[in-house]
Amino acid sequence: MTQLNTPYPSTAYLTGFLRSRGFQAEQADLSIALAHQLLSVDGLEAIHGQVSSLPRKRQTSTTRFFAEHFERYRSTISPAIRFLQGGDPTLAHRITSRRYLPEGPRFSSIEQYVGGELSVGDPLGWAFGALGIQDHAKHIATLYLNDLADVIRDAVDPRFEFVRYAESLAASQPTFDQLHTALSTARNLVDDYLHGLTLNALSRHQPDLVLVTAPFPGNVYGAFRIAQTIKQTRPSVVTALGGGYCNTELRNLKEPRVFDYFDFVTLDSGERPLLALIEHLKGTRPVEQLVRTYTRARHYVDFNEPDIALAESGTPTYAGLPMGDYLSLLDMLNPMHRLWSDGRWNKVTVAHGCYWKKCSFCDVNLDYISRYDLANTDVLIGRIESMIHETGQTGFHLVDEAAPPKALKSLATALIKRDLGISWWGNIRFEKSFDAGLCQLLADSGCIAVTGGLEVASDRLLKLMKKGVSVEQVARVTRAFSDAGILVHAYLMYGFPTQTAQDTVDALEYVRQLFAAGCIQSGFFHRFTCTVHSPVGKHPQMYGVALAPPPNATFANNDINFTDPTGVDHDWYGAGLKKALFNYMHGIGFEIDVREWFLENEPQVAAGRKTRHRTRHTVPRTLVPPNLIERALS
Ligand code: SF4
Repeated sequence: MTQLNTPYPSTAYLTGFLRSRGFQAEQADLSIALAHQLLSVDGLEAIHGQVSSLPRKRQTSTTRFFAEHFERYRSTISPAIRFLQGGDPTLAHRITSRRYLPEGPRFSSIEQYVGGELSVGDPLGWAFGALGIQDHAKHIATLYLNDLADVIRDAVDPRFEFVRYAESLAASQPTFDQLHTALSTARNLVDDYLHGLTLNALSRHQPDLVLVTAPFPGNVYGAFRIAQTIKQTRPSVVTALGGGYCNTELRNLKEPRVFDYFDFVTLDSGERPLLALIEHLKGTRPVEQLVRTYTRARHYVDFNEPDIALAESGTPTYAGLPMGDYLSLLDMLNPMHRLWSDGRWNKVTVAHGCYWKKCSFCDVNLDYISRYDLANTDVLIGRIESMIHETGQTGFHLVDEAAPPKALKSLATALIKRDLGISWWGNIRFEKSFDAGLCQLLADSGCIAVTGGLEVASDRLLKLMKKGVSVEQVARVTRAFSDAGILVHAYLMYGFPTQTAQDTVDALEYVRQLFAAGCIQSGFFHRFTCTVHSPVGKHPQMYGVALAPPPNATFANNDINFTDPTGVDHDWYGAGLKKALFNYMHGIGFEIDVREWFLENEPQVAAGRKTRHRTRHTVPRTLVPPNLIERALS
């Protein structure tokens, strides 16, 4: 399970590539099919059967609510899914009446938005206004699905989530033991559905070779279950695993049991390893000439052939995917998350890798960052035109790690010249070269949003992490985007090595000023994690931290624990940072001293509150002048 609103790009990329080389390649998205099977009348009836047989002590408020309101769930599930597929927009009126869909425990989150002067009338009125009925209904229907996901978790499979399913079995798991135990257990309802979907896909396509992509740890259990079904029912079909999870976590794979499921595991961009693998399977290439591939017999083989250039990798194709089945969800009330989860975007890559490749928290030593390869504008335009023609949709997500400004300028100029009328968004670095003129050009070409890393808003820490930007520069660049009408989302970080309580409070003050000055409209605070592939993981002493002893990993290896002598309890500060950000995104709380957000037991929206609570943590006064961003902008 990855996302319910859009297919993950890798299958579209590889199908397009393999077809461009003359292979008969088909793709299937079993994750959206599995979601639909669970979220159907039959699925809910099967789940209800399991809820009914739960012993009393295993029942939860979620399962009890589901059982009590089962008839309403059964009668509303198909219309709600159709609505989320965009098929029945007028149902929004009934959904927003709040009397149509059953409202289980997840709906209590709505009440958390309410506080102070904002609790007048409909609690969601402030977010959607009187006319935003479609969005309002999407949010309610998303909470309804989240309740159902919780029921599946409580009654069928404790590891279940629509995203990050059974993630803990795979994320940085040094041994295969837990996954092996889970895969050796009798199939539950979810596994049964996936088993059936795999059998259907096998009989529909009759493949010789099945490639399974696992972009994230939450895809790994499902990937192995799919491979298990293939090996049990059609042992002659060759299976191979690839994707982001393998590229980051399986770089030191020594576990033979993996090969009971997959015959091959490939690393990094799939195109070249797959060409070599197919030649090998056809008998025209010896095993020792495979490229970045683990095999059971030879372990890791890398013949070290050059990768296929981005320009030669073919046009992604969505042919064969059920484009009408994806669900437009509105989960968090965050403008950028909305782009991620709502609507289906064609995916295109301007450049493979990152042209900067220096940030010390990033996997700069791995191919997906370090190998920079730019496709020229004509190739990109050709791909964009072809995808519009194929899908009939004009929304594009540039899935770059950091799209280069020069290439964006060239792309924007060509888009305007050809009057393609697309909407697009993507990730960038907040480079000086994004000045007012370039931002306006990008907006004119259809750019609606950008995301970029501000990380810890502190010039000391930005320097230490080699981000290559300063807070004042970010202010000017983001303001240029905003002035051009482009939504700006900032990736924010806390818990970076040597970050003190003072740094955290000061960073929040910068963020407050950036929101107040209209530079950024959206953001998200991530807790820093150290990966073994990043400069911090490779040279911890340069960042003043000590790594935990490395586990004796035979399977996955990525995140690593570390000790920071500053001893700051970052999780505690994280709660205050997130609370403040939530309010800033809704345009409130700018007048409040940033220290207030860290006070314990405050409600989410604390505007106007004067009550102070004691805290055992230090929350120093900010040292940032209150008009610093304003000055930088003028
Ligand atoms: S964090 Fe972003 S800008 Fe920095 S090296 Fe990684 S991809 Fe590039």
